Amino acid sequence: MTRKVVDCREYPSESHCSLAISGDEDEVVRAAAEHAVSVHHHTDSPELRKQIRASLKDEVLPAIPKSGPPPPEGEIFDL
Ligand SMILES: [Zn+2]
Repeated sequence: MTRKVVDCREYPSESHCSLAISGDEDEVVRAAAEHAVSVHHHTDSPELRKQIRASLKDEVLPAIPKSGPPPPEGEIFDL
């Protein structure tokens, strides 16, 4: 199952927060709502949670080679 992620860096804020939260959708919405209240001074509400839920993205894991040595330093990957 794909985890959902919400990344504070995508939302300009005075605190320049760099937090990213990932997990099951309901977990992320709850944790992000609590974070928004405690750090960003939002007011927890069904509307806030709806906005958070709408901004969730599928978590993208970095591509990790299954075998073999790591690529040499400086090599540019064309993903
Ligand atoms: Zn934040």
